Amino acid sequence: MNETIFTKIINREIPSQIVFESEEIIAINDINPQAPVHILIIPKKVIPTINDLKPEDAELIGKMFLVAKQIAIDKGVDKDGYRLVFNVNEGAGQTVFHIHLHLMGGRKFNWPAG
Ligand code: AMP
Repeated sequence: MNETIFTKIINREIPSQIVFESEEIIAINDINPQAPVHILIIPKKVIPTINDLKPEDAELIGKMFLVAKQIAIDKGVDKDGYRLVFNVNEGAGQTVFHIHLHLMGGRKFNWPAG
């Protein structure tokens, strides 16, 4: 399988702004932010899309949300509100095929989303 940009970031082959890292998860600032706070929470395990999730990934996915919640608190967007998004496949805007949770905050978001 071809390496995605996120594997290169995890392996420090390309630079990024890391805001959190554990054995299983890394979180970085998005290079093309769509909100004042836009952070990607990325598992180090390569899972191309949410469609590829397996039952054994349940704990990892749960940990990603716990990391997102803590970063939202640390960035001060937890009270006003923030958005957590997984894009799944091209039709939903997925461009990097290594799952990642978008955490966006610091502005007002509309719903329904376009
Ligand atoms: P998606 O379109 O849901 O697959 O999200 C991919 C995200 O990765 C986009 O928001 C991009 O701006 C972001 N991105 C792409 N390359 C980099 C990079 N080198 N460092 C940080 N974020 C990146």
